[in-house]
Amino acid sequence: MDNLKKELIEVLKDQQSVFGDMLLEKVSFDLQPRKVKELAVKLSTDKVEEEKGESSLFLEEFQKTETLTELNQMICNCQLCSLGKTRTKFVFGVGNPNADAMLIGEAPGADEDQQGEPFVGRAGKLLNDILKAINFKREEVYIANILKCRPPGNRDPQPGEMETCMPYLMKQIDLIQPKVILCLGRVAANGLLNKKLTLTALRENTYEINGIKVVATYHPAALLRNPNWKRGCWEDVKKFRKIYDDLPTGRQG
Ligand code: SF4
Repeated sequence: MDNLKKELIEVLKDQQSVFGDMLLEKVSFDLQPRKVKELAVKLSTDKVEEEKGESSLFLEEFQKTETLTELNQMICNCQLCSLGKTRTKFVFGVGNPNADAMLIGEAPGADEDQQGEPFVGRAGKLLNDILKAINFKREEVYIANILKCRPPGNRDPQPGEMETCMPYLMKQIDLIQPKVILCLGRVAANGLLNKKLTLTALRENTYEINGIKVVATYHPAALLRNPNWKRGCWEDVKKFRKIYDDLPTGRQG
């Protein structure tokens, strides 16, 4: 019981450090371990193979991979769009390969391009703090972007780049089989859900793709520019955590 109390106090401290005075409400998280269960999620990526002409052989090959490591090795030298020429490092993704909770951003920024890891630098630190505030460790979840290479000058990804790179993310999701996804920012959410909505509209709903619940919130870099949006983010991430806690079973990921 003492440990549980200590854990709750730590969680509340973490929440307060990120969300400050917004925490005038009572929040509780399910700290009970969840049982192991397989979720049969099969994302359909076959269609892409039909559309890509010369690259279809390559696409067929990466679809056969059975682990994230194998997938990373197979696609890390990708040059299917022009971003392959301008990247410093390919940014595959990081975290627990069996995670029930996955976070998806739009593309690597300057820090990520240098380090080869998504969500590092100031935005990454804020993301880690947000995760702590909802009682997740960074290594407990899986974090990836739609694009694996940085768009020059941090411009928005172009539709063609998203379409070309998306099968890699779909394959990652297929291998990880998360049960809930948090999209970080409008571009990531619209890209994953194949929609063209404002972030305000995206945040109003919980979506589902192939049985996986999807929630959208602000990109941490946007929160750094506009701290007033933290209140909305707090509501979104609480929703994300609640969906996770309400899952009937899990793999302790
Ligand atoms: S952004 Fe995606 S499709 Fe474009 S080169 Fe990088 S890995 Fe390949």
